[in-house]
Amino acid sequence: MRILVTGGAGFIGSNFIHYVLDAYEDCEVVTLDALTYAGSRDNLKGVLDDPRHEFVEGDIRDQELVTNLVADVDAIVNFAAESHVDRSIEGAKPFVSTNVQGTQTLLDAAIDADIERFLQISTDEVYGQVLDGKFGEDDLLNPRNPYSATKAGADHLAQSYYTTHGLPVLITRTCNNFGPRQHPEKLIPKFIRNAAAGEALPVYGDGSNVREWIYVEDNCRALDLVLREGEVGEVYNIGSHAEKTNLEVTEAILDAVGASEDLVEFVDDRAGHDQRYALEVEKIVELGWEPEYSFEEGLEQTVEYYLN
Ligand code: NAD
Repeated sequence: MRILVTGGAGFIGSNFIHYVLDAYEDCEVVTLDALTYAGSRDNLKGVLDDPRHEFVEGDIRDQELVTNLVADVDAIVNFAAESHVDRSIEGAKPFVSTNVQGTQTLLDAAIDADIERFLQISTDEVYGQVLDGKFGEDDLLNPRNPYSATKAGADHLAQSYYTTHGLPVLITRTCNNFGPRQHPEKLIPKFIRNAAAGEALPVYGDGSNVREWIYVEDNCRALDLVLREGEVGEVYNIGSHAEKTNLEVTEAILDAVGASEDLVEFVDDRAGHDQRYALEVEKIVELGWEPEYSFEEGLEQTVEYYLN
């Protein structure tokens, strides 16, 4: 399979590329990434010289470029996005532009090409917060911050291209990822670095917000499974059931790094901060997936990676 991976110099995209090139001798990857502040060639160290991999610096909103790249692949996996909620609250424009218009540009290119699979990478955040129970794939989308609103927009567009153009679209919605190669603006890498440097760990509100955490390698295995064996037109939730409050994550990091709890600093809560996300995952489990890493095992690997 020859795959166009957009956003492949970012956190999950780069882990996915390392995963598929390791797993399949006959896999070829074309990476398209604009190298925004969030992307780095360093994340692709080890595969940049691989003859099965080609790196293209460019933008998913560039219709001509995208049309040329899409003509030569079997599948598209669209990771490219503006991904940080706090930045979307400061200014939503790049989020609408890349996450919605960028996805539309790719979808338009795909309907004119002979694409077998279009995997749109989405997030549990599109469902909005859930106080009791868990969200299933058929629940209504109720995004509550600009980032998740643009991701929901992209999901709707992708689904509409399946319905109206028959494009073989699949959508995955994964919970919070953690692991190697994540940008240090995100909670777990930031807190590991701060803890190691003896700097404060700023926890939003009272730290009671709950997230479901998945080790990135487990997510990449699930994404690959959906790409190859998922049913087109379907949405697949990917979750670990490992729910933690932000304070529990903070304490686990302090413990793993061997730093003092005095470093915890409670700061003003994020505007519109969703209290809890949680996913039903029967569909992906039925496809034959389950997580291999517990939260604690994943965190051990992650701490070791960032401290090195
Ligand atoms: P990231 O911010 O680490 O990486 C995004 C990548 O996209 C970067 O390499 C960036 O340079 C690239 N990019 C941004 N705008 C672009 C454009 N216009 N054209 C081409 N490339 C562009 O993000 P991530 O955490 O790896 O997330 C990847 C995808 O997974 C996103 O779609 C995100 O919504 C989704 N997701 C993330 C999580 C998570 O916990 N990180 C959870 C669920 C879903």
